[in-house]
Amino acid sequence: MMVLMHVSAGADQINAVINLIESNGLKALRLPGSEHVAVGVASSIPPSLRDPLYQELIACSGVDHVVHISRPYKLASREFHSEDTVINIKGVDIGGSKCVVMAGPCSIESREQIFESARAVQDAGAKILRGGAYKPRTSPYAFQGLGPEGLSLLKEVGDALGILTITEVVSPEGVALVAAHADILQIGARNMQNYPLLIAAGKSGHPTMLKRGPSASLDEFLLAAEYLLHHGTSSVMLCERGVHPLDRTYTRNTLDLNAVPVLKQVSHLPVIVDPSHGIGVSRYVAAMAAAGIACGADGLIIEVHPDPRSARSDGAQSLTPDEFKQLMARVGKVAEAVDRSI
Ligand code: PEP
Ligand code: MN
Repeated sequence: MMVLMHVSAGADQINAVINLIESNGLKALRLPGSEHVAVGVASSIPPSLRDPLYQELIACSGVDHVVHISRPYKLASREFHSEDTVINIKGVDIGGSKCVVMAGPCSIESREQIFESARAVQDAGAKILRGGAYKPRTSPYAFQGLGPEGLSLLKEVGDALGILTITEVVSPEGVALVAAHADILQIGARNMQNYPLLIAAGKSGHPTMLKRGPSASLDEFLLAAEYLLHHGTSSVMLCERGVHPLDRTYTRNTLDLNAVPVLKQVSHLPVIVDPSHGIGVSRYVAAMAAAGIACGADGLIIEVHPDPRSARSDGAQSLTPDEFKQLMARVGKVAEAVDRSI
């Protein structure tokens, strides 16, 4: 349920609405908008309370109207927050008119490798450096990431070059350490429904990019995002990274670009497309990156490695710095065609 206040409503009237909601044991959220303030009920309302509460709320002075939110997710819903959420991190907007590009290696492998990757992606126009320190791998024998050493390298390069950073966090206990080393937490596809992790990340209040699980429906995805929002972070990005494919002969996953316009319609959160994991083959990544921007994504996350053949993870889908530069030029033209820019 959401209460839209009159444009002229004063602080006393807004507080009275908040108190009424809270006196019923529900959580109230003040949502300042560009024209008027809204107050959201950020809890599920017991059916027996729904109608009496609605009647009491519309009778409050200063209230313009009250709407029921029909979606199972509330805070992530556009019914709750009609304007696009723009996340500003150290001067970089995510979700605004400019599309943002995050790029870098799948895994941080060494100081040289992450510095070389960072310089290359920054020179080509990426605003955010990606690099995994904790790698959730299908095989326990595969490279698992450099762990805390990788985090320190990421922070060192981010500080040295003045580029934002994003890296994956894989456990609730790891949230504080990862948040101290990176500007954005990444919650990976395999952990989309790891609720203790979502709760810990939400409570940290740190900007977080949530990747869609390979078999998750859009409602499951948005309800996972709802955990982050409900537990305290308002800076949440949604990332489409491909779903289980019908066929793995030619590609790794199926990038579900249907999700992009749908998510943009039902949610106010920024949507990022990951064509690297989505298609899984380096030669096709630029085409799907361009398609992601064409269908309305607010940004991209791309794997780039100075020498993909020697990469310790995901080399087959990683671009060389030159290929990344070409991708940026192609995507820039597509962005212009849809009234965006990179
Ligand atoms: C990654 O970004 O390297 C990664 C592991 O992605 P995903 O969680 O989408 O598989
Ligand atoms: Mn990867």
